[in-house]
Amino acid sequence: MARCGFIKASGERCKGTATGQNGLCWAHAPENADQRRRMASRAARSKPNRELRDVKALCEDLTERVLAGDLLPGPAAVANQLTNTRLRAIEQERKNKETEDLEARIEELERGQEAQEAGAWRGAHSSNRKGG
Ligand SMILES: [Zn+2]
Repeated sequence: MARCGFIKASGERCKGTATGQNGLCWAHAPENADQRRRMASRAARSKPNRELRDVKALCEDLTERVLAGDLLPGPAAVANQLTNTRLRAIEQERKNKETEDLEARIEELERGQEAQEAGAWRGAHSSNRKGG
């Protein structure tokens, strides 16, 4: 089977199998760009949710252990600080992904508008010809 012809930023050739007529794999074929973006934005939304569940579970566990006397207040305080840091990192990551997602959507809207304007111009032009 043919190999994807996409060359990565590292200069390495993609190891995917070419599926499209353009000799590119699914991940690199331009016709799949919309679907890829939709999948990426879904993944971006679900990953922090998973991480938040982990953090909540960890907090519960720490709380129980402190109350049961299994964990000293000192280490528990450090664990709490680290958990807070992790929460901030998750939130920052979520914001970054959200911004990227919005940027992609704005770009798409702008491209759509440009295409529409070009189409409107062509339409006006051809109707002028028809009339004259
Ligand atoms: Zn590829």
